[in-house]
Amino acid sequence: MKNIQQSWAEPYKIKMVELLKMTTPAQRKTAMRNAGFNTFLLKSEDVYIDLLTDSGTSAMSDRQWAGMMLGDEAYAGSRNFYHLEEVVKEIYGYKYLIPTHQGRGAENILSKILIKKGDIIPGNMYFTTTRLHQELAGGKFEDIIIDEAHDPTNEFPFKGNVNLNKLEALIKKHGANKIPYVSIATSVNMAGGQPISIKNLKELRLLTRKNGIRIIHDMTRVAENAYFIQQKEKGYLHKTIAEIVKEICSLTDGATMSAKKDALVNIGGFLAVNDWDVFEEARNLVVVYEGLHTYGGLAGRDMEAMAIGIGESVSDEHIHARVGQVIYLGEKMAGYGVPIVKPIGGHGIFVDAKKFLPHIPQDMYPAQTLASEIYLDSGVRTMERGIVSSGRKANGENYYPKLELVRFTIPRRVYTQAHMDVIAESAARVYERRKSIRGLKMIYEPKYLRFFQARFERL
Ligand SMILES: *Cc1c(COP(=O)(O)O)cnc(C)c1O
Repeated sequence: MKNIQQSWAEPYKIKMVELLKMTTPAQRKTAMRNAGFNTFLLKSEDVYIDLLTDSGTSAMSDRQWAGMMLGDEAYAGSRNFYHLEEVVKEIYGYKYLIPTHQGRGAENILSKILIKKGDIIPGNMYFTTTRLHQELAGGKFEDIIIDEAHDPTNEFPFKGNVNLNKLEALIKKHGANKIPYVSIATSVNMAGGQPISIKNLKELRLLTRKNGIRIIHDMTRVAENAYFIQQKEKGYLHKTIAEIVKEICSLTDGATMSAKKDALVNIGGFLAVNDWDVFEEARNLVVVYEGLHTYGGLAGRDMEAMAIGIGESVSDEHIHARVGQVIYLGEKMAGYGVPIVKPIGGHGIFVDAKKFLPHIPQDMYPAQTLASEIYLDSGVRTMERGIVSSGRKANGENYYPKLELVRFTIPRRVYTQAHMDVIAESAARVYERRKSIRGLKMIYEPKYLRFFQARFERL
């Protein structure tokens, strides 16, 4: 008996299905050409398996759908708000809640309250919208993540950790009063979904407390981070995901949340804080940007679905199947020789396009090319995270990022193991014929966030 493998499986069964359109190679060729070799410009209808993002793409449970019917669409004081408030207090432990339409709504309000012109905001790697709101509020982001995070081959298990020496140097250089808070993401998205450890977070808590600096938690993927702590950090194997999530939150002073990821809803987010003064100001500002403080841009039904989704997101069975599926795909791809970022993160597989297509120089967009080739092969939609996404500096020169990646992001509870097999096989087929693949030329470049709308031609 002892050689029998112990498999994970989905802790749910399927009650309703959404039919997918299967396409022919000729149809995909036309669709890709019409999209200018940019997967963001494809019509979703022409996509077979959609791995563009895990944001807002989760499948809700029957309980969440039932909750939608209990939406109390009152302008003020909806009962769904009070339910959500109770859940956030109980599961995450933060005292005060402000709902927002999604994560960036919370980032906007928080940045406006805490950041003054000339402030420094250290963080464990940037995220696009988070950094932009910090900058718009007059602040400057400083990366204090450990160096290992920038190396796709380094297998350190907690590549989301902060380098405390980097933070101390910033405090020394600018003074603690120039640092309103440290911005800490759990499951660092831009590093490939890499977790931070409790040990590191505790050390960070000591250092920030000594200097009177807050920690603000980007808790978009906190449950996935908790999974890696449970599995890899000493002393946590017998704790539940819910216990670990609460411990993480207890080491921070407030949080912004995009509920479109971990919390299993298609739209929603919130700001949560422990400080009455910050809450009071946020309650004031939310009226300007989102809506009254008891709905923050959301329908009552959306708040109800979120309240239920948060509860489901911290179940051990759920998160084991969620991350188990991602790891299954990553190991299958690695088994075919496809070069992927290690260790495998919580929300997707990141393929190293520089290694996959070493004959294509970065100026000919290897990751963009690879994403288009995967779609042409199988109708699987992925996205570029490399030189196109990085854009240009203020002086017009291109950024040349170290990481040139294609992201295969897995929506939660949406696809089956057989879909994972199809994805891995497609990546393997493209890998087999990699030497015949040529790069791309950009023929249209938008001024801002070019990766969304740029167009390309084959060389
Ligand atoms: C998605 C995301 C955000 C922004 O949230 P939205 O709901 O898309 O506005 C912020 N931080 C991280 C880490 C994210 O992944």
